[in-house]
Amino acid sequence: MTTSVSAVSPAVTAKARLRGVVFDMDGTLTVPVIDFPAMYREVLGEEEYVRIKSQSPSGIDILHHIETWSPDKQKRAYEIIADFEKQGLDRLQIMPGASELCEFLESKNIRRGIITRNVKEAVDLFQKRFGMTFSPALSREFRPYKPHPAPLLHVCSNWEVQPNEVMMVGDSLKDDVACGKRAGAFACLLDETGRYNSPQYQNVEFKPDYKVSSLFELLSLLEKNFNLIA
Ligand SMILES: [Mg+2]
Repeated sequence: MTTSVSAVSPAVTAKARLRGVVFDMDGTLTVPVIDFPAMYREVLGEEEYVRIKSQSPSGIDILHHIETWSPDKQKRAYEIIADFEKQGLDRLQIMPGASELCEFLESKNIRRGIITRNVKEAVDLFQKRFGMTFSPALSREFRPYKPHPAPLLHVCSNWEVQPNEVMMVGDSLKDDVACGKRAGAFACLLDETGRYNSPQYQNVEFKPDYKVSSLFELLSLLEKNFNLIA
């Protein structure tokens, strides 16, 4: 006697298992308040900014650029960056949907982490203001930082889960998506304005598995497409 069960392949019907979500902070859990182009201009100078920007269409890696500078020049650059970050902290706002998403993950006992290129002080302040903890929460002090996969692999081993059971979520294609894909995790790009639809981003090496325009959309996506297990 034949049954229809065999026609349904488990590979098709089984949802991928997800045990943890790792978030970028700036522009993902918080509303973008740092004017990055203005920061880059001030650190690099107008001429150098224009030159570097034309060479790196997917975005400027400012920390990487200043790493090779002389200590004096580097110190000045970090001061400028710290100023911009401080202004950002003063105006810190939680991303719409972040609370709902985190509460949803909490209800499913799904782990939450942060990987940011911002400083630890900013992460601590954010968690305090947000009233929710992320663990681990890796900041700029953890080297190497995104887009290197090391911080995400560190989170996975800390959680004792496989990278393919984790999703990296962020608003940066060059940092968050690249970090996620390099580590072997799911990568979700938060693109609120659709700026990544532009043709200049179509031939990048690391493409996201998912793209959402809000964290509310991500919540539905997780609920629908994944088997959320602690
Ligand atoms: Mg970001």
